[in-house]
Amino acid sequence: MSVMSAPYLNGKPVSLVSGAGGFLGSHLVDRLLEAGHFVVGIDSFNTGSLDNLDHALSPNNHFILVQADITEDFQLPNLAYDYIWHLASPASPVDYRRLSIETMLVNSNGTGNMLKVALKNRAKFLLASTSEVYGDPLVHPQPEIYWGNVNSVGERACYDESKRFAEALVFEYHRRYSMNIRIVRIFNTYGPRMRIKDGRVVPNFICQALKNEALTVYGSGSQTRSFAFVDDEIEGIFRAMTYENTNGQVINLGNPEEYTVKELASVVAAICSVKLQIKYGDLPPDDPSKRCPDISRAKELLKWYPSVPLKQGIGRTVAYFAGKYSLPI
Ligand code: UDP
Repeated sequence: MSVMSAPYLNGKPVSLVSGAGGFLGSHLVDRLLEAGHFVVGIDSFNTGSLDNLDHALSPNNHFILVQADITEDFQLPNLAYDYIWHLASPASPVDYRRLSIETMLVNSNGTGNMLKVALKNRAKFLLASTSEVYGDPLVHPQPEIYWGNVNSVGERACYDESKRFAEALVFEYHRRYSMNIRIVRIFNTYGPRMRIKDGRVVPNFICQALKNEALTVYGSGSQTRSFAFVDDEIEGIFRAMTYENTNGQVINLGNPEEYTVKELASVVAAICSVKLQIKYGDLPPDDPSKRCPDISRAKELLKWYPSVPLKQGIGRTVAYFAGKYSLPI
């Protein structure tokens, strides 16, 4: 089969984004279109949403959407791909518990299939990995050289361990085929286009506060997370692929400002102008007690540092949820 170099490509770089209909995937599609790429998105829509891509599908855009599951047989437009951005996977703990085996398959077989596309095209490859590879960390903050503390038979293992497998597979392609690869470990990220039923703490708290309900804090609320706004995260991902010095690198991407879950609840209630009410619930099994990225490597290699403070990012996310779901601010 000959590879299409259609006139409409006009010398544009061609990117393939797996998980294009997801929260991060759809923002990445926007960033790539803005940077002048021709973009092919692929998504099973198990957790992604077509709504996230409506605007990208406008006829003036250089975007093609393929609805398919990358763990099975799938057909791609016959183009010469320059960049493969592999983001497909459930990422919310609620989703990956519900879709535990699918999560393991997309991170194993799905990653293998995306690597084969990269190999055939001699494309550059980026794996979206996760801070979950550090498990419940015994080192704080977490640098990339930390090997982590993961319960391999626990309820989060379907995600943690399959992402660890995906990382190992990517490195074997790098070693065996000299493939140009990088892995980004994404820490907690939030912003517009998260689903109302996503189950993660930011959309839960915002929707609860907008409905003037009690915020559901799991455990004591003293566990910490470090929250990055989506625009910052996407810029880090974009640089990790396009900067010259990233081949063979593993790079943490997250905001090192650390908050307890209870502090987050106060910030959300204040921004929604409601009195803080809390309803305590059980801590999910193996819920990490703290998490904060060491981003020295991202700073050095990518000249990247998150620029959106929590209050500002939460404000923008509240506006999104209030508008999309007609919730009163
Ligand atoms: N969490 C919470 N209330 C919620 C949802 C989550 O207290 O309604 C807690 C959860 O137990 C964890 C933290 O918030 O300690 C972040 O959870 P999330 O699901 O957003 O992502 P995780 O970091 O666990 O992948």
